[in-house]
Amino acid sequence: MTFDPDTVRTRTAALVQALPAIEWITDARVERLSQDFYWFSPVLKRQLSELRADAVARPKTEDEIRAVVAGCAAAGIPITARGSGTGNYGQCMPLHGGVILDLSAYNRLLWHKPGVARAQAGIRMMEMDRQTQAEGWELRCVPSTFRSATLGGLYGGGFGGVGSINYGPLASTGNVLGVKAMTIEPEPKTVELRAPEALLLHHVYGTNGLVLELEVGLAPAHAWLEAIVSFDGFDAAVEFADALAAAPGIVKKSVTLLAAPIPDLLLAAVPWLAGHMAAGGHAVFTLVAEFAEAGLQQLVQAFGGTVTYRKTAAEVKASNRTIVEYTWNHTTLHAMKVDKGLTYIQSGFDAARHVQQAKDLRKALGDEVLVHLEFIRTKEGAMNCSGLQLVRYSTDARLNEIMQIHRDHGVYIANPHVYIVEDGKQGQVNPDVVATKMRFDPAGLLNPGKLRGWNVREQVMADAAAGRVSLATLPSF
Ligand SMILES: Cc1cc2nc3c(=O)[nH]c(=O)nc-3n(C[C@H](O)[C@H](O)[C@H](O)COP(=O)(O)OP(=O)(O)OC[C@H]3O[C@@H](n4cnc5c(N)ncnc54)[C@H](O)[C@@H]3O)c2cc1C
Repeated sequence: MTFDPDTVRTRTAALVQALPAIEWITDARVERLSQDFYWFSPVLKRQLSELRADAVARPKTEDEIRAVVAGCAAAGIPITARGSGTGNYGQCMPLHGGVILDLSAYNRLLWHKPGVARAQAGIRMMEMDRQTQAEGWELRCVPSTFRSATLGGLYGGGFGGVGSINYGPLASTGNVLGVKAMTIEPEPKTVELRAPEALLLHHVYGTNGLVLELEVGLAPAHAWLEAIVSFDGFDAAVEFADALAAAPGIVKKSVTLLAAPIPDLLLAAVPWLAGHMAAGGHAVFTLVAEFAEAGLQQLVQAFGGTVTYRKTAAEVKASNRTIVEYTWNHTTLHAMKVDKGLTYIQSGFDAARHVQQAKDLRKALGDEVLVHLEFIRTKEGAMNCSGLQLVRYSTDARLNEIMQIHRDHGVYIANPHVYIVEDGKQGQVNPDVVATKMRFDPAGLLNPGKLRGWNVREQVMADAAAGRVSLATLPSF
């Protein structure tokens, strides 16, 4: 389907008029609401900065969502779902204008019981945690953007984060139990998908279904002690981080390695960190259960580190300041504040040799790549790390070379400098994802242009009919 920009604009304006009960945004705020953190990438910055929706709808109820979806489907208007717009790859930026469906006001926690909760997609993760922590439970993994990011946005565009050291990425079996999604048709239907089909709409940038509700596993909430451990040597720092991550007796929520000179960049960007990290050194940021502090101290001593920052859970709460907001891609954000020449890559190491790979790559790439590792479990449960390495950007060609050097060392790259689903983490056309889109979005109106598989949907269906691929079974609707 092609979209003529003038036709889309005119039809969107007519829809805004036709649905006066909906909260519409059509003023200068549309520009901000059409963007995310795509500018972390110099490549995407060049490609996407002009993109704008024609209007933003902020529905509060399922009926309001249905009215907007029905109107867009009837008029052939593109719809791009948005949570809080903290995605990194232009995920919620509309390539063909139309309506941004901002779900941030559709945000109720529907119910929770020990170990499981169900919420509307637009709930902010911090708010969800606030409500379930009162009963001793919390989300199993949250991005460092937990304060503003939504559960639907994590599912639609995210990977995992703090807590993935225990539960793996969001996609690990048992983390997402069900989703309710809406079809994009003149008479929209809602459908409940249970696991494993509940993952068919995950990390495809809202291209193959509009998620209304999510049912997710919860983790026991502990009082988390926040600590920064400083090291003089890289090898000691990475070996400590790995040992702490793997230590089964130390209950923890995150372990982050920031190799020199990243701590210096953070010290320059964040005044309050002064005195809490050794200048010129390497740092490991960690959250462990308060009752596990003795085990942490034992490992700090064994590897020759120094605790340069320590805050109890009560102190963290009182200060409203958490070191989580300096880990994951917040490290990138703060480093880019002081050095505009930086960008980043995303990588997944080999669980069998991740520490050696990290040492080898640091030697191979020297000062051009600044090592940032997040220790997490793989989907299968092995301890591993993923990298959000900072890169001193020179040219696109060199950036691609650096990613290739990682691949040559056996490290997987989820390229963050592309906006097509298959060019990023997914890696290739997934027939199930395409078939799901055909059911939920038959006219191809959801975030159009981001799913390459949509262009080969006839082939995918022909392959399925001929038995060359077998597709996941969706409930009839
Ligand atoms: C500083 C920084 C740190 C970050 N740290 C992490 C991290 O630790 N881990 C991580 O995984 N990510 C991280 N991210 C990426 C991002 O913050 C998270 O993935 C976050 O969960 C996205 O939530 P959001 O509400 O902002 O989603 P948005 O950016 O609004 O949306 C993300 C994608 O999901 C789609 N979408 C949103 N809602 C729905 C819905 N209801 N139905 C269907 N599709 C939908 C959108 O169309 C878009 O394609 C980080 C980004 C930044 C800028």
